[in-house]
Amino acid sequence: MYRITIDRDACDGVFACLVRDDRFVEDSEGLAAIEVDDRTAIEAIFDDDRRDDAEQAAAACPLDAIHVESVEEDPGAVDAPASDTEEVQP
Ligand code: SF4
Repeated sequence: MYRITIDRDACDGVFACLVRDDRFVEDSEGLAAIEVDDRTAIEAIFDDDRRDDAEQAAAACPLDAIHVESVEEDPGAVDAPASDTEEVQP
């Protein structure tokens, strides 16, 4: 299980991440977000085999705006969504 977090203060919309991992999308503010269940978020937890994709997106980001880390369990709601970017609920 791992968590992807996007630092929206650092992101400048270069979108090198999108071609590495299609869960990254451009939102209405022109910045990167993570698409989860037809919603977008700046932080999301996954329990799948796509961590390598996320790691490649993080490595490709020129501004180090993407962080991927292991988590023990889903803590539930996430913090600080962008104004039009929804939180991911469990
Ligand atoms: S590559 Fe980094 S800076 Fe560019 S859109 Fe993705 S998260 Fe933002």
